[in-house]
Amino acid sequence: MSPEIINSECIETENEPVHALEEGEVNKSKAKTSSGSKPEIPPGMSKNAWKREQKKKKWLEQKEARNKYKKDKKKQKKLKNKMMQEQLYNESGSLTTIDDQAPSNAVTGNNNELLSLKKSNVNIIVDCAFDDFMTEKEVVSLSAQITRSYSENRKAACTVNLKITSLDKRLLQRFDTALKGQYKQWKGVEVSHDPYIVPEDEIERRKYIYLSSDSSEVLESLDEGCTYIIGGIVDKGRHKNLCFNKANEQQIRTAKLPISEYIKISGRQVLTTNHVVEIMLKWLECHNWKTAFEAAMPPRKIYGFESARQKRKRLASEEDSR
Ligand code: SAH
Repeated sequence: MSPEIINSECIETENEPVHALEEGEVNKSKAKTSSGSKPEIPPGMSKNAWKREQKKKKWLEQKEARNKYKKDKKKQKKLKNKMMQEQLYNESGSLTTIDDQAPSNAVTGNNNELLSLKKSNVNIIVDCAFDDFMTEKEVVSLSAQITRSYSENRKAACTVNLKITSLDKRLLQRFDTALKGQYKQWKGVEVSHDPYIVPEDEIERRKYIYLSSDSSEVLESLDEGCTYIIGGIVDKGRHKNLCFNKANEQQIRTAKLPISEYIKISGRQVLTTNHVVEIMLKWLECHNWKTAFEAAMPPRKIYGFESARQKRKRLASEEDSR
């Protein structure tokens, strides 16, 4: 029920043009109330002011009904999302569509937009074994990045098998205390307090790729059955090569995202854990790195982006040089 519908019941003007009443012209109005009788406009009040007041009154009267309607709609939406997610996570096998029964492999989203939900067989591990390298503030920041990564995967058009490993020490404490242990209710993610296990078999190990901006290899695509490890660390660039060296010691291949080939990021090419997850999720959806970077990265990080302040400055200097 929209406010317009509610208000249209307020006064019927029978398509007659409404003129503001002059002083003393009360009751000369052709406007009628919904009951058909002529409205009683208080002396000294213009017709427009009276109409405004009536609208406001009606609006307030229907506030409760409106809130209930909104609440019910929200409830329905939540239920629908829950059902979709449950179906998604109950399915197994690679790249299964959520709605196998639907002929178009699609489900209707919120605004009747078609959403195609898929579950890939791509694995992402967020390796949180770097607690000792972070300040207290960085641990807080990492906890937010992990939460974000989890929720992005939950709502992604094409999800991955997400695993958080080595969740211990201060990071675990943060999740258990300040974040009220909510991660224990997370669905479709594996949380382990132990480190990930490196396969002994070389062929299996080759399916593991540690993502690192320090690598000389460039990631071309994300492959089904492969496991991509992302360093769960916020260090503001203090620990260069940290994850790269760890991967080398474990004889795990490394690769960097193809940032410079697709977009120009001003500054360092080290991204946050959640941005790397978001880029990967987007790539799985569209198979296009440029689109994936542009969708996942904040515009200010993308070369060519001009902030409002920068634009004002540029325009001012252009003005000066004229
Ligand atoms: N000093 C840390 C940087 C942490 S950034 C290090 O040694 O890696 C958090 C993680 O995001 C990294 O460990 C890496 O897995 C991933 N990452 C960040 N930028 C990346 C890039 N350009 N290419 C690939 N992975 C990247």
